[in-house]
Amino acid sequence: MLTGSCLCKQVRFEVRGALGPVRLCHCPACKRATGTAFSANARIRAQDLALTAGRALISEYESSPGIRRAFCSRCGSPVYARVDAEPDGLRIRLGSLNEDPGVRPVAHVWVGDKADWFTITDELPQLQARAPAR
Ligand SMILES: [Zn+2]
Ligand SMILES: [Zn+2]
Repeated sequence: MLTGSCLCKQVRFEVRGALGPVRLCHCPACKRATGTAFSANARIRAQDLALTAGRALISEYESSPGIRRAFCSRCGSPVYARVDAEPDGLRIRLGSLNEDPGVRPVAHVWVGDKADWFTITDELPQLQARAPAR
């Protein structure tokens, strides 16, 4: 089991299952939502996320039609994202985890929208847009 929290630690959660492939997402929404070059995301099964504190602090913002980004309304940290088209899954940000999840990124995605000021220096595959569904 993995544990995680937002920055102010009022929202805390557990992930009671395996993480899906970790992708480094350079899409415009992830850049703005994180304030940096990309976000490190993994899909989990929706049933595997247990909010253990702070549920009432979570707000959701629909960043694109059908894509809702949940964040802590006190500190602004992303907590998870959910996609209407994938009701059985959620996406979490690896930066909110307390432990080493044991998995490593498999690809950069949405590289076509990559920030001009950031240079990818690793050997991971680079996909111009979104990753194919797994
Ligand atoms: Zn918070
Ligand atoms: Zn993204």
